[in-house]
Amino acid sequence: MKKLVDKFGRQITYLRLAITDRCNLRCQYCMPAHGIDIVDRKDLLSYKEMYRITRVLSELGVNKVRLTGGEPFVRKDFINFLESLSFNDHLDQINITTNGALISKHISKLEELGINAVNLSLDTLNADKFKQITRRDIFDETMQTLDQLLASELTLKLNVVILPGVNTNEIGDFIALTKNKNIAVRFIEEMPFNGVGLRKTDEVWNLNRIFKEAEKYFTNIIPLDDKKSSTSKNFKIKGYRGTFGIIPAFTRTICGDCNRIRITSTGMFKNCLFDDGVFNIRDFIRNGASDDDLKELFIKTVQQKPINGFVAEANRKNKKVSESMSTIGG
Ligand code: SAM
Ligand code: SF4
Repeated sequence: MKKLVDKFGRQITYLRLAITDRCNLRCQYCMPAHGIDIVDRKDLLSYKEMYRITRVLSELGVNKVRLTGGEPFVRKDFINFLESLSFNDHLDQINITTNGALISKHISKLEELGINAVNLSLDTLNADKFKQITRRDIFDETMQTLDQLLASELTLKLNVVILPGVNTNEIGDFIALTKNKNIAVRFIEEMPFNGVGLRKTDEVWNLNRIFKEAEKYFTNIIPLDDKKSSTSKNFKIKGYRGTFGIIPAFTRTICGDCNRIRITSTGMFKNCLFDDGVFNIRDFIRNGASDDDLKELFIKTVQQKPINGFVAEANRKNKKVSESMSTIGG
């Protein structure tokens, strides 16, 4: 089988696919209050196109897919798409990143389809702050979803974007959640992908600072052996059931073993979160590309994968990093 290997010898096995650019929330760190300019529906990849792209990539060694967005559950028929994807036996893992607002009624179906993990985004344990961050008043529903997910068979991770001056005082509380719950809390460094650009803040909260904050509350922190291509540095409090981790998304200290590619909801192929897109697959497919053409394109395109996110950023045509995470697919 031909494989996707970049010029640094890294094999690409993980696809992050954005289902849509639409979202039902308006998180401060992801988009402006009025939202983003969403594309025409016809410009989104169809499910058929997404299915085909995933199948072709899986024939080139991709065995893990994360479905994200925008909010994947706002797109009609997402569950049917998941069902078709679940028949692809090249895929060992299908995971979803979601804000959780619309998933509670689908949890048993996700279990039935063999979905592996859900990453739930939750940046605060305080209702007022939740409203301030997401600009929507659905804290209680999100907490209910958290409980339902904990009671399910799905592996659960919590994504917590660290927002200086907003939720940094909750780092200890989030870690405390791992005492009795089988959950992986992951603190994410904030990136400038918010539709406007890098926010000016008085404090810098990077991996080291987040870890130091954790040390204020816990003395018995055990570093875990991370998988080679892990996106986070992971830890456990001795005797606790769950784990916590820090994703150095902005300081980009663990890019070296990256095994990921991204495809945006409009079909833009991205070798790195920080590049501004390498190739539009949607247009290539709509112009009649065969599966072999697609394979050739993917093999060629991963050759351009930069060594890390800093090189990707330096190579951008559009130098300002300001697009919304919702259009990229987080
Ligand atoms: N809507 C879903 C959600 O929020 O989980 C999926 C898409 S969202 C873009 C994927 C992840 O990206 C979320 O965990 C979110 O917190 C994270 N994210 C969004 N904007 C970010 C930013 N500027 N910096 C760091 N993480 C960000
Ligand atoms: Fe929507 Fe997710 Fe962005 Fe929040 S982070 S606005 S939930 S896409």
